[in-house]
Amino acid sequence: MSHMTARQGMKLFEEGELVHLIDRKERTYYLQLKYDARFQHSGEFLAHNDLIGQPDGTTVTLTGGTRLLALRPTLSEYILMMPRGAQILYPKDIALILLWADIYPGATVLEAGIGSGALTLALVRAVGETGQVISYEVREDFLRRAEKNIETFLGKLPPNLMTRLLDIYEGFEERQLDRILLDLPEPWRIVEMAGDALRPGGIMLSFLPTILQSSQLTEALYRDSRFTRIETFETLLRPWHIEGRSVRPDHRMVAHSGFITVARRVLPAPPS
Ligand code: SAH
Repeated sequence: MSHMTARQGMKLFEEGELVHLIDRKERTYYLQLKYDARFQHSGEFLAHNDLIGQPDGTTVTLTGGTRLLALRPTLSEYILMMPRGAQILYPKDIALILLWADIYPGATVLEAGIGSGALTLALVRAVGETGQVISYEVREDFLRRAEKNIETFLGKLPPNLMTRLLDIYEGFEERQLDRILLDLPEPWRIVEMAGDALRPGGIMLSFLPTILQSSQLTEALYRDSRFTRIETFETLLRPWHIEGRSVRPDHRMVAHSGFITVARRVLPAPPS
């Protein structure tokens, strides 16, 4: 999308953008740039006008002398800070989903549900302006929240995103889909429809919080001869603390988020 490339390629902060201000102790403050507004911090101030027009990565000095590093949030930083309606997919899972579902520029991807829009943001970026993301959501409040989150990060709702306020279990009309990504509780109810809607060679990927759900989904996929190469995995990301001689894993990590099941849509083999 031209506005996305413009935003990402652009070097200077502009009005309306989100900026992180980071202090020496790595504490992060957020602001949305607005002409003539002031950022207040323990009795000190910074005029937004002093940031607008500056390059990403600039250090600014507040009225009392405190110095803060100004950085445009990355997509994963933004996802972790944005308001949540539903539980979001974590960046560690989204990162793997993009490659395991093989999301590519130009792909047509159906997603359900949109939740808070975390995965959606990664998808509209990955399919690019020649691709299309169609997002189903059954709850209107979640859909509005997700659209707001997407708009805040991108500046506007991108033209390659179409949202539908519908229960996907009731069926959907899209056909010749390249990918179907499901983050909802009963994906096995969609397996047959996904078989009809995916093009040959297409991929269905599902994220589920419990392994019993993954097992039920996998059984449904095995029963449908149009699905093969069915695999399930989870992602464990362990950050490390590296400071002088203290080189060790961090004390805390996200121990569990969910299981990812992937399957490939194929044409049934002719009888031999
Ligand atoms: N992947 C999302 C989070 C999805 S949470 C993110 O990264 O932000 C699961 C969402 O699926 C919820 O918003 C829920 O309302 C929605 N949902 C559950 N069942 C659904 C159905 N049958 N059709 C459409 N959406 C559904």
